[in-house]
Amino acid sequence: MSKQDIVIFWMRRDLRLEDNAAFYHALKSGYPVVPLFIYDTIILDKLENKADRRVDFIHRSLSNIKTLLDKLKVGIEIHHGIPADILIKLTDKYNLVGVYTNHDYEPYAAERDGLIEKILKERSIQFHTHKDQVIFEKDEVIKDNGDPYLIFTPYSRKWKEKLNDFYVESYPTLDLLDKLLKQPALPHPSLADMGFEKTDLISPPSQMNAEVIKLYDKQRDLPGTHGTSRLAVHLRFGTISIRQLASFAKDLSAVYLSELIWRDFYHCILWHFPRVGKGASFKPAYDHIAWRNNETEFEKWCIGETGYPIVDAGMRELNETGFMHNRVRMITASFLCKHLLIDWRWGEAYFAQKLLDFDLASNNGGWQWAAGSGCDAAPYFRIFNPYLQTKKFDAALSYINRWVPENKELSYPRPIVDHEFARKRCLEVYTKSLNAR
Ligand code: FAD
Repeated sequence: MSKQDIVIFWMRRDLRLEDNAAFYHALKSGYPVVPLFIYDTIILDKLENKADRRVDFIHRSLSNIKTLLDKLKVGIEIHHGIPADILIKLTDKYNLVGVYTNHDYEPYAAERDGLIEKILKERSIQFHTHKDQVIFEKDEVIKDNGDPYLIFTPYSRKWKEKLNDFYVESYPTLDLLDKLLKQPALPHPSLADMGFEKTDLISPPSQMNAEVIKLYDKQRDLPGTHGTSRLAVHLRFGTISIRQLASFAKDLSAVYLSELIWRDFYHCILWHFPRVGKGASFKPAYDHIAWRNNETEFEKWCIGETGYPIVDAGMRELNETGFMHNRVRMITASFLCKHLLIDWRWGEAYFAQKLLDFDLASNNGGWQWAAGSGCDAAPYFRIFNPYLQTKKFDAALSYINRWVPENKELSYPRPIVDHEFARKRCLEVYTKSLNAR
């Protein structure tokens, strides 16, 4: 029997059928569409914790998609393995005409996609890729001379000038679902099949909360309130569309929109300077800081026992839930690099392990901002005072009391280092290391 001509819609960090660029183009290709997801063993094998909330999140999101597609009698291909091998294997089953997928800007993904494009080309299969994850990508917002912006404010100005309805228009994918190939339901490997476990994941709602966004400029820095949208995990895995979110935000809150622009900005930095995603400081001089890298102190920071309640509250929130409020991410990151003089890459790696919304571009951007090594970073001589930050942003101690209820008791550790001493030490070490070059 001759094999059926089809195209594949390969989902990666865009786990939704609604308003999805690559899916739309696949549905318009004229060929029946088979959705595909691959649990990539090159990524998963590196995860030490087998109760990983991200893998659980992906599994649940795909199960929802599969339930919907099963009802439509559409089989979704879900595999566990190396993407290139799986795609080649699928050519035995189907006459594969093309693969449609959305851009992924991380260095590993760019290499993987380059290899896959080559493998498919050798078999005369087209590889079509589309922008979906951000509003503006790569060279879409650059300086007049063609260089990428390194400073957020002018980038953001140009971004806003360029924004119009076209860029936030939804792709009407749901009107085209009859173009999906009808076939019997296909299996979805269980977490256990892949060596993972179910977790305590409580996934935040993927709905945009208009009340939160309206009050965002007043409450976003207060970790004790529900002042931020908690949508980062959904943007990370594409369970909401950035176009829908930006279109909603642009009429409600300029400050919220600005955070979405930071996200685009960091994706652009990673795209233009992939070395930052491979461990290099954006400003090379910062690779010569004489870090102390005390392992015992690092361990205390990780488990939230530094004796600084706001730092400990953040780390405990992260360990227990996989989330940490942005203001507290800034405080804990600054504390690690500047008070403890521990290499920002250690902190970056710890966040990467724990954050449900972990995203290489934003995490790296946030850490390099805190360490001072980033393109548009906090100056090295600005050292957050954890006590003043608490007074300003958690005056009633509601956040601290929630995560560190014993903070007033004698059993609570004494500060791991005196603030004033640490501030002076940091200035000396940074100044000496940066001036030595
Ligand atoms: P909201 O305040 O509701 O913001 C809305 C959306 O805007 C977020 O969901 C996010 O997608 C984007 N956003 C907000 N702030 C930033 C920012 N500073 N940089 C880039 N995008 C932003 N964000 C991640 O998505 N993944 C990470 O791995 C990550 N690591 C970080 C590490 C450090 C050290 C720091 C300082 C920040 C990091 N951020 C990261 C940025 C920010 O802290 C989170 O996006 C935010 O806390 C997520 O919560 P929210 O969805 O309620 O955000």
